Amino acid sequence: MKLYNTLSKTVEQFTPINPGEVRIYSCGPTVYNYAHIGNHRAFLFADFLHRAMRIIGGYSVKWVMNITDIDDKTIRDSALNSPEWKVEFGKQTNDPKENLKKLTSFYAQEFLQDISVLGIKKEHFFAMPYATDYIPQMLDLIENIYKNGYAYISNGSIYFNVGLWVSKEKYGKLFAIDFDNIISGSRIDSDEYAKEQASDFVLWKAKKDDEPFWDFTLDNQYLPGRPGWHIECSAMGNHILGLPFDIHTGAVDLRFPHHEDEIAQSKAGYGVDTSTFFCYNEFLEVEGKKMSKSLGNFYTLKDLLHKGLDPLDIRFSLLSTHYASVHNFTFFGIESAKKARLRIQEYIHECFELSGNDFHEIAIIDTFESDLKESIADDLHTPKAIEIVFTFMKSYPANTLSNIQKNNVLTIFDMLNQLFDVWKISPKEKVELAIPEYVLEIGRQRWEAKKNREFQKADELRDVLLQNGFTSKDSKDGFELLPL
Ligand SMILES: [Zn+2]
Repeated sequence: MKLYNTLSKTVEQFTPINPGEVRIYSCGPTVYNYAHIGNHRAFLFADFLHRAMRIIGGYSVKWVMNITDIDDKTIRDSALNSPEWKVEFGKQTNDPKENLKKLTSFYAQEFLQDISVLGIKKEHFFAMPYATDYIPQMLDLIENIYKNGYAYISNGSIYFNVGLWVSKEKYGKLFAIDFDNIISGSRIDSDEYAKEQASDFVLWKAKKDDEPFWDFTLDNQYLPGRPGWHIECSAMGNHILGLPFDIHTGAVDLRFPHHEDEIAQSKAGYGVDTSTFFCYNEFLEVEGKKMSKSLGNFYTLKDLLHKGLDPLDIRFSLLSTHYASVHNFTFFGIESAKKARLRIQEYIHECFELSGNDFHEIAIIDTFESDLKESIADDLHTPKAIEIVFTFMKSYPANTLSNIQKNNVLTIFDMLNQLFDVWKISPKEKVELAIPEYVLEIGRQRWEAKKNREFQKADELRDVLLQNGFTSKDSKDGFELLPL
């Protein structure tokens, strides 16, 4: 397997740290609202990556995706009398922690439901940790960073000293940071910030009135508060997978500050690197524009399902673009994805039909398989893989293949479907069309009339059948009604 590693800015040969086992950590959702389709692209990319590591790489995979259930936004929206509070969360109480839990559990469940609809299976995860379950581990890490001299306390909060760090270690491994704009001693409290604002970031935020908090004593100072966003992933990644792990994934906007800060914290606190590979998916645009609520092109999965879209087509469409390219989500594109997906499905069905052909050449099938595997092994080149499938289907229509060849082709499609998961590897199901009883009755009367040689009556009844959308296929012993 080869992957583009943002640390080296090159496509590198992938070799896991522990032979045979790949450890992947994906930054999961912040559960303050429904995930939008752009978020889902990141989760689908990680899902495909972990499947490719199993199916093509042959590795066993430990895949972790965290759930951020505490940050600025979850606290803001769960605050007493927040306009974002919904009755579905339950009743608000005077306990901010309880309110936070109610809001985040609701959206976490919605998230799990969404990803399962999109084919991301719960059983594929090694763990899905919730940040609030790892506060003691975060406090241990903060204490380490503080003891190592890279953190300081100010107004009850604890900050990471970026200036000191930069003087000793590289900060900006993933993303070119403009150090001219780092203002020594300036501090950032918010979880997300622009690159112009690179400065000391918060590890632990001092308790504010009516906000959830946890007890913490550091250097004999009582510092009630709550974790900053970046420290969460450092602590969970270390505790669950061990550092360094093999691959860290996320959407491109997580390179900075989130992952840069994660790298700095983990090195400063644990003395080790975070991950060997950092892999990012590009953004998703809608109809060529950045998705935004104000443009009215902001879609959650539910919005798209309400519009009648098939989740299989959404999955296939998003996976059809290479993860490192911007995906332009359009309704036309979904239609094309559907056509392509169903064309492949039809071919799979056709391969289940017995053929009278005894053409046995297997080399073409072997090439098909190795080309496909190579395209995925080459930095998950999904568009190339789909192109290979179409070229093969065009060159070798199913009815030109022998039974042996069809069997082998089906094995390859089965492998491909373990990655894409949008097809049924089975014979075509006979669709039992429900024919209304009154139509059946007309059919029976027509058949009787015909048997009794009442041809005019039979013809009239045939017209009635046609008006109802059916035609009668007659044989010597009976008739069969077929939809027009
Ligand atoms: Zn993260």
